[in-house]
Amino acid sequence: MKTKNILKPITYSVSILLGAVLLWPAMLLAQDTIVETDSHRFQQVAEGVWFATGTGSVFTMSNAMVLVGENDTLVVDSHVTGAAAQALLDSIPALTDKPIRYLVNSHYHFDHAHGNQSFPEGIEIIGHEYTRIKLNGERGNVLEESTFRSFSDPVPATIANLQRQVAAESDTSRKAGLQERLRVQQEYLAAIQQVVPTPPNITLDRKMTLFQDTANGSREIQLHHFGRAHTGGDVVIYLPQEKLVFTGDMMLPGLAYMGDGHVDEWPETLEGLKTLDFDKWMPGHGPVMESREPIGNFQTYLRDLWEKTSAMHRRGVSADQAAEQIDMTNHSSSFAQIRGPGVDPRAIRRIYQLLNN
Ligand SMILES: [Zn+2]
Repeated sequence: MKTKNILKPITYSVSILLGAVLLWPAMLLAQDTIVETDSHRFQQVAEGVWFATGTGSVFTMSNAMVLVGENDTLVVDSHVTGAAAQALLDSIPALTDKPIRYLVNSHYHFDHAHGNQSFPEGIEIIGHEYTRIKLNGERGNVLEESTFRSFSDPVPATIANLQRQVAAESDTSRKAGLQERLRVQQEYLAAIQQVVPTPPNITLDRKMTLFQDTANGSREIQLHHFGRAHTGGDVVIYLPQEKLVFTGDMMLPGLAYMGDGHVDEWPETLEGLKTLDFDKWMPGHGPVMESREPIGNFQTYLRDLWEKTSAMHRRGVSADQAAEQIDMTNHSSSFAQIRGPGVDPRAIRRIYQLLNN
């Protein structure tokens, strides 16, 4: 077991301390190693497999994964802006000095792919054919689409609101906290304005496999497109030896955004994910997961949402009225976000769009 990467000065690990006391096997130690930089927290899920989340000092919005090999490094997803991706690129040397060779996009959405532009020339960007089509502007500018706009247009209002809160706050430490959030949002807004959608230059349709040299031989990295789901081109990144999968937004611990989803096909696509043999899954948002139960719960939710929305559509109810009326509280034990009747109108408008086609 190689441990050179965990001996850097900024590295710390709760489990190393525990392990020293309990004399746990070294294999267990490596799995819980945490490396933190100012902007990122890296959790080692298996040797050389790092799950990356933002610390909050830079607005990253989504998770990433870093696979460190003997000669090179592969990154999955590039965060929400060039600035967020740059923070990731600046943090990776805390894990390894092996150069980045590949960036993989799990899907085209802004919060996973708008950092692509910061990856230097020479790094290959891999994604689904559909991800390339969306990001190269062939079917319109993603910066003008409702998904990007519905998340990005409110940022100035968020900033104005924080400015009001800062002005009104008299408690020094709370004021400092608000000022920090304000700084992060202001930098995020500036970075949004510099986004240049940058498509993958290597694409796949159903499957692609990469083999990364490691100290023990070679790591198999499978990219699977099981069908349309959260977008038209979702790719999951599967490591069969490590029994790990990065699911992007096709499968989250909670309810995923559905504004570009193929809600009718999504449950079947998740059947593909279920055929993989894995112990842990890393979502595009939220923590590393072990239980497979949420997958079945989400399939059930999607099928029910499709049926309920179709019924409203048949009755001639408008999409926005349907979004207010549809009651999914029968799933509230599976999804904590569900606190009462009503569904994200962007999901319902999307389902109506599919039903109208
Ligand atoms: Zn997404």
